[in-house]
Amino acid sequence: MKNFQEVFTLSAGPTMASHRTLAALGRPLVYHYDPLFLDTFRRTQAKAAEVFRTENDVLLMQGEAIVALEGAARSLTKPGMKVLNLVQGVFGKGMGYWLQSFGAELHEIEVAYNEAVSPEAVEAYLDAHPGIELVTVVHSETPSGTVTDCGAIGPIAKRHGALTLVDAVSSIGGLEFDTDGWELDVVVTGAQKCLGGPPGIGIVSVSEAAWERMAGNPAAPRSSYVSLLDWKEKWLEGGAFPFTPSVSDVHGVESVLDQVLEEGLEQAIARHAAAAAATRAGVTAMGLELWAASEEIAANCVTSVRLPDDLDHLTVRAHVRERYGVMLSSGQGAGNLMRLAHMGPSASGMYPVVGLAALGRGLRDLGMRIDVGAGLDAALEVVSANAA
Ligand SMILES: *Cc1c(COP(=O)(O)O)cnc(C)c1O
Repeated sequence: MKNFQEVFTLSAGPTMASHRTLAALGRPLVYHYDPLFLDTFRRTQAKAAEVFRTENDVLLMQGEAIVALEGAARSLTKPGMKVLNLVQGVFGKGMGYWLQSFGAELHEIEVAYNEAVSPEAVEAYLDAHPGIELVTVVHSETPSGTVTDCGAIGPIAKRHGALTLVDAVSSIGGLEFDTDGWELDVVVTGAQKCLGGPPGIGIVSVSEAAWERMAGNPAAPRSSYVSLLDWKEKWLEGGAFPFTPSVSDVHGVESVLDQVLEEGLEQAIARHAAAAAATRAGVTAMGLELWAASEEIAANCVTSVRLPDDLDHLTVRAHVRERYGVMLSSGQGAGNLMRLAHMGPSASGMYPVVGLAALGRGLRDLGMRIDVGAGLDAALEVVSANAA
């Protein structure tokens, strides 16, 4: 492996962290019951709630966002319960496998991994299948680079008497997201995507209705690493941690939340939109094809680019990293595609141009006939217009 002094990490999470975040992660370790840390932990929860736009309880669960997602899904599901799972990519599909293993009666609306499940389809399905108690949805399907319209789906689920569980791991801090305005019950995010923080903490918001459902669910995990009810009882109500939180990760998460709130949440969202617009313009002007079926459903945190069948995504990823010191993401099960992420710090300045240059030139090296210069020009037009 070539030794680059610094690698451009333009991958779809974990992504780059700012110097300020790295400094926060390097702060001294303190005991978790030190009053300083207790204050930090409570402040961080409150800041997370602000970024989630919610009045609901927020938990900082130790472990990758997957831990919080599994805990939330298990807590809300019991054997025989009718659950509608929306699938437009690998994370949605994975949720379905989980739900089945927890004994749910699984209902699914599944579309091709470059499409989005429409709110109309959800409404029609719920009309035709009374008794569904939970709708599970991925807001931003990171491998597909597509979004689902949770702003419409949340109220539809509510009207049909179903709770919602939303995987917003690659959304919060970068994409438009309004937990309370969209009437969403349980929302999970991670720090390592649009927030540009460390992988290691799952942040989850829980509505009053969801707490009631969990409390009345004999299948909800208790005395378990993935138990949300343990966190409620021990920490929210009792002021004691169920186990030792990662002090450094909490410092890192507070720092990234501070950075987003100081920048302004709307401004951070606009920054992701601008980086995505520059990237999409570059991809198409270069002669490459967006993976998403339309720009309307393309996510602003990552741009997925279709590759020709004879060029394997893992080969491309390895080549670009080895020759140019740029770390991109591959398809992660969604298809033969490459992903240019614009998340957190990488959703700013010239990073979209760096990603496009590395991917474009890498594909040329591997024999594709594309116009890299035209792509960079088009991206720079957008970058310049948005910076003016
Ligand atoms: C990153 C991510 C997760 C967390 O999964 P990891 O495998 O730990 O990266 C879950 N859902 C979505 C949509 C994600 O982007």
